[in-house]
Amino acid sequence: MDKKQLEKYAQLLVRSGGNVQKGQLVIVSCAVDDACFGRMVQEAAYDAGACEVRMDWLDDQCSRTTYLRGADEIFDSFPQWRVDKLKEQDDRGAVYLHVRSSDPDVLAGVDADRLRRSTKSSREATKEHTRLTMGSFRRWSIIATPSPAWAKKVFPDLSEENAMEKMWQYLLKGARADGENPIADWETHKKSFDERVNFLNKKSFDALRITTKLGTDITIGLAKNHVWEGGGDTDKDGIPFFPNMPTEEIFTMPDRMRADGRVVASMPLSYQGNLIDGFEMTFKDGKVESFRADANESALANIIEIDEGGGRLGEVAIVSNSSPIGKMNTLFYNTLFDENASSHLALGKAYPKNLKGGDELSTEEFIAAGGNDSLVHVDFMFGTPDMNIFGIDENGNETHFYQSGEFVFN
Ligand code: ZN
Ligand code: ZN
Repeated sequence: MDKKQLEKYAQLLVRSGGNVQKGQLVIVSCAVDDACFGRMVQEAAYDAGACEVRMDWLDDQCSRTTYLRGADEIFDSFPQWRVDKLKEQDDRGAVYLHVRSSDPDVLAGVDADRLRRSTKSSREATKEHTRLTMGSFRRWSIIATPSPAWAKKVFPDLSEENAMEKMWQYLLKGARADGENPIADWETHKKSFDERVNFLNKKSFDALRITTKLGTDITIGLAKNHVWEGGGDTDKDGIPFFPNMPTEEIFTMPDRMRADGRVVASMPLSYQGNLIDGFEMTFKDGKVESFRADANESALANIIEIDEGGGRLGEVAIVSNSSPIGKMNTLFYNTLFDENASSHLALGKAYPKNLKGGDELSTEEFIAAGGNDSLVHVDFMFGTPDMNIFGIDENGNETHFYQSGEFVFN
């Protein structure tokens, strides 16, 4: 891939993604295998005026080895120094930039119970950091870069070299980072969300009924005073940023107590190195009543059963089929990309910003207002090219605003 274009991609992450400000502390997390690109991000962050850019180098293979060979008790605790590290960074107002290139299969064969316990202990220990990032008190942004194992998973018929080249093309195109001026392209992209968000916020539907030919037929109640979001975020100081690049979705908060019907996933879900495939769930009064999967059902159970909120909805997101990623018709085995190709739901924690005044509420108040709380937030795809969505108002009137995979306003 052309070095100049990669530098533009790194700048896009720094300037549009995290929107790094002068004098700011920046934390870059990046795989050791991807050090060249990580260094470009560091350079770009200093160019943007960062006072210090710290690198958190990751290695999936080392994590895998620890899951396989570590003593059993280590998965029940999370080191205090790592909690303190996050606190020091958050206290200094850090912005977090994440470069992700994980092999979707890296944790395959790892004991599911170790994964569940490790997720639980780390999420519990880092709750405050999650509150700050999910509540947009701290800015953060995630982009993806290819790795050989991931590229071969997506394009198994190509040689490793050709698969990597093609992945770069797809990731840059999907992230709208393949043009002459990606930063300007993202400004234009941001404006395109307004019509959809404004329409849905004005309607303020009581519920959505969603159907697909795969068998999804579900009515999802929306929390009273829910807010539709999309096209980036703004932090508490009014500084805009894009948490996810790409982003094509508009999304809001379901009422945690109101979802009834059946949801059939339209894509496999890669969760902690396991591919959950051929799965569906049935909801009653907002809670998963039954579920099944053709492959890795225990990984799905790990999400649903992690706590009370794991089996309830925290997000409903709508994506138009004609998005650049939707048009690629490619399974990436990666939520950042797949969730922007298809309408999706999330099990677990809801975003406080999807409720008016949501981030001023205590956890108890948020739950009472219909917001879901959990240690997890896991998106799964259920959108199809034939999907239909009806908005239902408080009197039961239906508005068919999304037809055959596209938004229609009238
Ligand atoms: Zn989403
Ligand atoms: Zn989500």
